[in-house]
Amino acid sequence: MEVSFSKEVQSLRLGAGETFHGEGIVAVTKALLQSGVAYVGGYQGAPVSHLLDVMVQAEPYLRELGVHVQACANEASAAAMLGASIHYPLRGAVTWKSIVGTNVAADALSNLSSPGVTGGVLIVVGEDYGEGASVIQERTHAYALKSSMLMLDPRPELSNMVRMVEAGFALSEASNMPALMELRIRACHLRGSFVCKDNIAPAFSTAQPMPEPAAFDYARLAHPPVTFAQEKRKVELRIPAAQRFIIENGLNERFEGRHTNVGIIVQGGLHNVLVRSLQQLGLADAFGASEIPVLALNVTFPLVPDELSAFCAGKQAVFVVEEGQPDYIERDILATLHRRDVQTRIHGKDLMAATGEVTVEMLSGGLASFVEQHLPEQATQAVRGWLRGNTQRREQVARELARTLGTLLPARPPTFCIGCPERPVFAALKLAQQDVGPVHVAADIGCHAFATFEPFSSGHSILGYGMSLASSAGVSPLMQRRVLSVMGDGGFWHNGLLTGVQSALFNGDDSVLLIMKNGYTSATGTQDIISTPDDEAKARAPDKQQSLVDRNTTIESTLKGLGVQWLRTVHTYRVAEMRKTLEEAFTTPFAGLKVIIAEGECQLERQRRIKPWIAGLLKRGERVARVKYGVDEDVCNGDHACIRLSGCPTLTLKDNPDPLKTDPVATVIDGCVGCGLCGENAHAATLCPSFYRAEVVTNPTLVERFVEALRAPARRWLQIQ
Ligand code: SF4
Ligand code: SF4
Repeated sequence: MEVSFSKEVQSLRLGAGETFHGEGIVAVTKALLQSGVAYVGGYQGAPVSHLLDVMVQAEPYLRELGVHVQACANEASAAAMLGASIHYPLRGAVTWKSIVGTNVAADALSNLSSPGVTGGVLIVVGEDYGEGASVIQERTHAYALKSSMLMLDPRPELSNMVRMVEAGFALSEASNMPALMELRIRACHLRGSFVCKDNIAPAFSTAQPMPEPAAFDYARLAHPPVTFAQEKRKVELRIPAAQRFIIENGLNERFEGRHTNVGIIVQGGLHNVLVRSLQQLGLADAFGASEIPVLALNVTFPLVPDELSAFCAGKQAVFVVEEGQPDYIERDILATLHRRDVQTRIHGKDLMAATGEVTVEMLSGGLASFVEQHLPEQATQAVRGWLRGNTQRREQVARELARTLGTLLPARPPTFCIGCPERPVFAALKLAQQDVGPVHVAADIGCHAFATFEPFSSGHSILGYGMSLASSAGVSPLMQRRVLSVMGDGGFWHNGLLTGVQSALFNGDDSVLLIMKNGYTSATGTQDIISTPDDEAKARAPDKQQSLVDRNTTIESTLKGLGVQWLRTVHTYRVAEMRKTLEEAFTTPFAGLKVIIAEGECQLERQRRIKPWIAGLLKRGERVARVKYGVDEDVCNGDHACIRLSGCPTLTLKDNPDPLKTDPVATVIDGCVGCGLCGENAHAATLCPSFYRAEVVTNPTLVERFVEALRAPARRWLQIQ
């Protein structure tokens, strides 16, 4: 990847007494080293990609410490890596995006949790829930419950997050349970500071390897008959040990307040939202000190019955702030208090929406209802007025839009980057379907999923990362026309090769697979994969403007080795050729799996790569030509077919300069990277001839200056005619 994390890598070297300044996720990364972690792995995904990205780039320093870093093929391989901690006193940490990553890792997690761990295990999951989330709305908490794993949800404040990483390892060792640490998007990107400790080189490491393997111990396998004893141990030994450790080490935090007849129990990760909501109600000061007693759960599984009942006892009512559904924590608290005959009224989901991210607005409404019932002397008019005002403002905007536009503003979905190599493929698919008819499209996870939005609206289902071809296995034999599965190179290596290609070949599936070979796992931050062109290839490239992905043919050779007989590689920007190849795949008499590799380097990564190169050329006064496309407004007929076929954000509309025409004309605004799709589409779809290609030349050659000196007067003459 071309992004540099040198500043973050530098911060990992800070020693005792020095102050770290930066993002939450980098603080957690530093805390892993302060905890003596011996190995780190994971699979990238927002919002925790930084952890692995920084660790991978810090490899030379980690080698000094003896810490092993593994960029895993998927979350299952990351979870399986934790098996090192079953026998050995090795602290291990892995990371991925949840819930989807945890689903992929589930098998290994069950097999890890059953025998339990010796060395502490921390699984840092990016809890991608709520506004801005890109995955299914489910809670990782369910995995902690079913597999008996610890669930940490640290209050978002850097010192506390660091403390919880260190405590998480110790808690894991004290209870033999692996620990999940959920970090929401806001916690990962929260900025702050903390006072560092020295990093700890692990006792056993790549520098000091273990001399002998552990003795054979059947009880450490997740296999009958020992699994029955392991289940008992979870309930009778491990969970009680964890509960003792939580109390003895004060892992959960209690903040006292003057209204002692009520209280709030909050997931640690939501504490900042709670404080802001209490401020709206006039129940917390500018520094976050609450007037209502608060129990912040930095550990949300297991809960500690003694701690819960001690907090609730004597209170008239307690409000539980828990995000998402099912309300595991609230139910657990209700059961605990009922069993212990604590007569405190519990509120939570009865006063607040059961689903969606807990925002300040949502929580303020719930808390206002709670306060009105149990603190009637506390005024809530101001917060009620604020909430009413928000609702009224939204309704007013909707009314205004309906009046002026006759409709609500359309949603503005995310889309491909400008110049993305994947956009042309979906333009070609649109054109191919004009000839062969509509096809069922099994979509996948990755940048190509942007094609599910307009103007392509392509994709009938998404069943998981790398699962498109596997998901077509049921529909394909029952469909008259051939089915198309789309997958990225990231998805191909993550899962698609085995679950999709291998199964399709084994079963002789007659379907079409389109693999986007852009060279990186682009959607998660352009991390490298096995088919990424290496640095040597980049350095050897005669022209840095050239796409580099065609230099690595690992995907092609893998497919051939597996037995794929119908395989075509087409450059993505060649729309007409891609259209023809798709049509051939849909209609050829060959009845096996047909694979099209759509080759084109991720534009985001390419731009990052060539930016310093261009800056160098300009600095040296050398010639640089930048390609731009444009629309001749006098020729554009205003039917906007080019926009419906492209969706490029820089190809847009402007008022028609002809006073006799009302339809707006197409225009290319600043930002066009000259990818060439406009010209290709105009050619492949036989559009109107309004597109032109121009070169913006900086530091032109003497010949170019001479030619321009001749052209300029002629152009001026033509313009005044
Ligand atoms: S990150 Fe790369 S592959 Fe993804 S949309 Fe942007 S240019 Fe396309
Ligand atoms: S050439 Fe067309 S599709 Fe490509 S970046 Fe420019 S406007 Fe967008």
